[in-house]
Amino acid sequence: MKKILLKLSGESFGKNGIDSKMLERVAREIAVVAKNEIALAIVIGGGNIWRWRDNSHLASLPRAESDFLGMLATVFNAAALAAALRKLKINVKVFSAVAAPVELAEKYSPTAARKFLEKSGVIILAGGTGKPFVTTDSGAALRAAELKCNLVVKATNVDGVFDQDPRKSKTAKLLEEVDYKTAIREKLGVMDLQAFRILAKSGIPTCVFNFEKRGLLKKAVEGKNVGSLVK
Ligand code: UDP
Repeated sequence: MKKILLKLSGESFGKNGIDSKMLERVAREIAVVAKNEIALAIVIGGGNIWRWRDNSHLASLPRAESDFLGMLATVFNAAALAAALRKLKINVKVFSAVAAPVELAEKYSPTAARKFLEKSGVIILAGGTGKPFVTTDSGAALRAAELKCNLVVKATNVDGVFDQDPRKSKTAKLLEEVDYKTAIREKLGVMDLQAFRILAKSGIPTCVFNFEKRGLLKKAVEGKNVGSLVK
């Protein structure tokens, strides 16, 4: 069975908090994939609720504590997504790398997560790495390596990896295929460079695609050319 790690940023659920229409749309796209004999591990971000860098003006709040608030934000998103998927009859389990109510998530263990993933199809991984000073992109890379996924699928709001920032330059060119070495050397954004380093070492390719375009998730997990492939 093909094992895919899907990295979803918090903004797929809304700009500020969770928007029910956006949540339902994400759940529907995932349900289509989950019914397709693909094992899906979803690492979820928290940027729609809390990010250290969006709150660094709170000078009295230490960075590490602010980062833990970000990790807790991912638990909110994970619980909301799990509920939306269950409504669509998808059997899903949430694991968290940070302490969360048992009603919402089980403590993350690679063995338990892998077992559920291989048996039942969909797991949601909250809490990122469980450690401050990094982001859920690094969490996604670590979990993909740990769970021995075949592919990372990074859902974002641009068409893929560009040779320059497409929001700043009109001449930016989409790179359909790029190697990790070049992506790291040229600092070709869209995903944390630390995440790219882990994935390069583990030999797991990453497909970067635009999640704002409907239907691309299904094509991405099927290995179709829908954005950029970093390998
Ligand atoms: N975070 C962290 N360690 C992790 C994952 C996340 O400290 O392993 C914190 C960090 O402050 C980050 C926030 O949680 O800004 C939300 O995660 P992220 O920015 O990756 O969310 P996304 O942008 O993907 O929605």
